[in-house]
Parts: sequence; structure tokens; C-alpha cells
Amino acid sequence: MEESTANTGNKPVSKIDALKQKLRSYKEEQSAKTKSKPTPEEIRARYFTPRKETEYFRIIPSYNNPDELVEKAFFHTVKINGQWRKIYCPERNDPDVDGKSPHCPLCAKSRSYLEQQDDSLKGIKREDYTEAQKIIDSDNKELYKKSKSWEAKKFYIVRGIDRNAQGDGVKFWRFKDNYKKEGVFDKLQPAMNFFIENFEEDFRDELNGVDFTISTVETNRPGTNFTYRTVSSIQTRPKQSPLHEEETIRKEWINDPTTWRDVYKPAEAPNVNANEFMSMIALSDDVSKVYTAPYFDDTDSKNKHWVFPNRPDLEEMANTRNRDLGANTSNKTVEKASDLQSAASGVVNESYQPSINSITKDQTGTYTDTDVVDLSQDDNSAQAPDNELETQNTQDVSSEQELSNDEAVDQDIEDEIDKQVDDLPF
Ligand SMILES: [Zn+2]
Repeated sequence: MEESTANTGNKPVSKIDALKQKLRSYKEEQSAKTKSKPTPEEIRARYFTPRKETEYFRIIPSYNNPDELVEKAFFHTVKINGQWRKIYCPERNDPDVDGKSPHCPLCAKSRSYLEQQDDSLKGIKREDYTEAQKIIDSDNKELYKKSKSWEAKKFYIVRGIDRNAQGDGVKFWRFKDNYKKEGVFDKLQPAMNFFIENFEEDFRDELNGVDFTISTVETNRPGTNFTYRTVSSIQTRPKQSPLHEEETIRKEWINDPTTWRDVYKPAEAPNVNANEFMSMIALSDDVSKVYTAPYFDDTDSKNKHWVFPNRPDLEEMANTRNRDLGANTSNKTVEKASDLQSAASGVVNESYQPSINSITKDQTGTYTDTDVVDLSQDDNSAQAPDNELETQNTQDVSSEQELSNDEAVDQDIEDEIDKQVDDLPF
């Protein structure tokens, strides 16, 4: 303050400027602190999942990959404690090291089933199979199916601003590739194309870009009274608009260095790193019966605790640490931390900062004003299918799988797997 008085000869305007500058610096300090240790709300606020009847989303360029309109990412979908989780795939997402792709226990698991296939059928036409060969073929198909279920699935991710929650800042919207071309990306592309063709402008432009209108419909899950929301259409709004009226806010959003990797992180648990976590999952025999991964059991509010199937040593350690955490923090913090270590996920990182993976849909409902409520009413919601997730790309199927890679088999497998995959952002 004194400095500014000296420099400006006591002009009131400059005093105000100095005050503003001071306030900004406090804010920056605070946000710098927040960055190193995000609160649960801040982490949760990084997801965008269309839940309202109409949502408005403004796509902004990826921080480190601005040339791509959408980014691609791969996740394994596995069931842990009854809920489907998306597990970051290092083999498909991380760059090669010394010409070798990083090891992924789940990709290895997927390949192991293909290696078990009987290749005596190679070169024989299906219609010429003997009865014995038909049995081999059927076994091969089962192995292929298992392999597919363990395979990493392709997702798309865009970064942007949720117009219904602009205060949350930059968010990430992840949606699965759809084999039938009926997914979110298949609805988003024509809208992108329409705008570029008609306005000859980048829809992400900070001044002359455009918001997307996302319409969702309530869908009934066949055979149940459970409903969920799916994206029915995506259009650009009729008029171009600035990302925000104020340049400082535009810049703040565009220059936010958060990437999807900061948000959709590898799954971990106390004293269990990402690779170990995946190795534990891979011990399971079938993707629909994954019991071997650690999870946080919060079904009894008085006895929330970690469960490590077959690993009492780690379980003891995790829960001891959990209690210690409680002893050193306020009740409120404990409760929050516990919430975040919750069931679906059962995942926090070692330092006990809430991990993105550790947030369940119910908590999303608690902390945001979106109408996720309709997804949380029912325990079955965890298995809610989503149209956008119904199918997935089989182009990833390598030629190794030629023993049973006919289209019909692929389609059946896709349908079966994706019926069990929910649209939760974790
Ligand atoms: Zn993988």
C-alpha cells in the first residue's frame, strides 16, 4: 500500500488498484494452495456428466493437446464390490519406454485368454467343422469373450465449461466409444461439423465459439422400474458467444493446466500402488466377479472400513491408518475423507488425499446441484446401462484373435459387456 502511494502520488484510483492487486494475490495464494491439495468438492467438480434435461457445455482446447478436438483414452471396466469401475490402462495411455509399451496387468490378463485358444481350427472353414471341432470352436469363443471383457475400452474426453456450474471452472466429459455409432461422440461430431461448416470458425474459439446444447432423456431399464438419463441429441446453440465476457476469466479457464490425466487417475488403495491394484484385480477369474480388489466399505456408517480380499495384512494396515487419520482430524474431516474412500471406488491414494477414483455417484449428488438424484435412488443404479456405453469398438481386436473374430460374436460380446457398464464418471 505504501509503495503504491509513493509511486502514484496519492491518486485514489491507484490506491484502489493496489487494493485490487492485493486481493488478487491473496486469491492466487489460496488457489496455489488448493492446487497442491484439492478438496473433495474441487475434485468432484472436475467431472461433467449430463444429468439435467438440457445441459449447456462449452468445449475449450485441451491444455497440452489443443490440436485434437477430442482426446482418446483407454480404461478397463471391472466390477469391484458390485460396482463398475473404469481403471486407467497404462499400456494404452502411457508413452512407450525404450520402444516398449508400459506393462498393464489387465491387458496381460486379456491376452492370456487368447493364448489359451486352441489354434487347430486355423484354416478350416466353420461350415466344415466336425462335432469335436465345434466344441473347440465354442471353447475358443468363450476364451475370446473373456479376453474381450478384460480388454481396455476406448473413451473420448473433452474439456470445457459446464454452463450450469461455471463456478466449478474447467471440467472433463468422458464418454465411451460406441460400436454401433450411436454414442455421444456420434452425436457430437455432426454438431461440431455443422458449426464449422456454417460459421467457418473453431467452436472452441474464446470469442467467436459456441456452446453445445445437450438434451437427455429418461430411459427405463428393461425389466426394472429403474430409470436413468441418456444423451438423446447434441446441437450447437444458434449464436456464437464468448467463452466469458471477462477476459481474465477466459484466460484463467484456457490456461488452466489440468488435463484429463489429473482427473481420471489410476486406481490405488492404501499401501497399494496402481500396478499392484491392477494385479490384484487380475487375480479374479472373471470380470463379472471381481472380488480381489480393495474397496472401502461404507455400508455401515458406524463401521466404515477398508476391505482387502485375501490380504488381511494390508487390510489391517489400511484400517489402522484410517483410525489414526480420525484421531488427528476433526469429525467433519473424517466423515468427508470416509465418504471419499467409499465403496465403489475404494480408492484413495497413499497420502490419503481423496482420489478422483474414490468418488461415488451418490456423493456426486451430495455435492453438486445436478439431478444425479435419479441415479442414486436405487442401488441398482450401479449397473445402469447407458446407451452411449452399449457397445464398443472392436477395431482394437488384433489379428491374433482371428480364431473367432466374426462380427456377430463381437457384437454379442459388446452388448453383454456394455449392458453392465454404467455411465458414472469413475
Ligand atoms: Zn491395460
